Amino acid sequence: CGIVGYIGKRDVAPLLLEGLQRLEYRGYDSAGLAIQGKPAKGVQSAGLKTAKAKGRVRDLEAKLPKRFAGTTGIAHTRWATHGAPNDVNAHPHLDAEGKVAVVHNGIIDNAADLRAKLAADGVELASDTDSEALAHLIGRSQAPTLEEKVRHALAMVEGTYGIAVLHADFPDRIVVARNGSPVVLGIGEKEMFVASDVAALVSHTRQVVTLDDGEMATLKADDYRTYTTEGSRTSTSPTTVEWEA
Ligand code: GLU
Repeated sequence: CGIVGYIGKRDVAPLLLEGLQRLEYRGYDSAGLAIQGKPAKGVQSAGLKTAKAKGRVRDLEAKLPKRFAGTTGIAHTRWATHGAPNDVNAHPHLDAEGKVAVVHNGIIDNAADLRAKLAADGVELASDTDSEALAHLIGRSQAPTLEEKVRHALAMVEGTYGIAVLHADFPDRIVVARNGSPVVLGIGEKEMFVASDVAALVSHTRQVVTLDDGEMATLKADDYRTYTTEGSRTSTSPTTVEWEA
């Protein structure tokens, strides 16, 4: 249903919760978030941390561990299509190693097929959702870059999606993609936002880039680039949204 993401210098959990609250009007049954944990000195990545809850955004907030520091993260409000509304089926979904976190809006039409193939390969699926398959497909890709891993996974998927992806081994970026579910980038000063709806962005920046179907983007704190799901660069310049606060 709703997606929010942030990469920059600020403490990310409060920003994500605020963004989710701005999407509450759309309706949802559960919510969750994943962040890149703050690495200790000399360590490249501290790994992903997640929290998920059935119910309202404030129920998620109440469940957040005390130490939930980080400056990169993604969040989701879910409107269940595949699998009951509960904590486990709430997004983000992780791959088997816990290195990939995915939030997904939309419906994967060939989810039953993908889930059966993953199970046949020995993957234990944690949830009943269509979306979880994406996390495993990305995690199992042998491609060297996160962008290619996501591209590989999407090539196997039929259906609609707006997705945002974190990977513990690529802590400097968020990769997003769109096919049939809106994805909007918010361009800030040394910080970037992503959301399914400008309502979640406008309190931070009015400079936005709306992805087209078949388009992906890589967000880094001080830079973004857009490209097609086939990997060729697309040229996009931000437009200014008018918004009555
Ligand atoms: N189909 C996914 C699910 O049921 C995503 C639903 C949504 O867009 O919130 O988990």
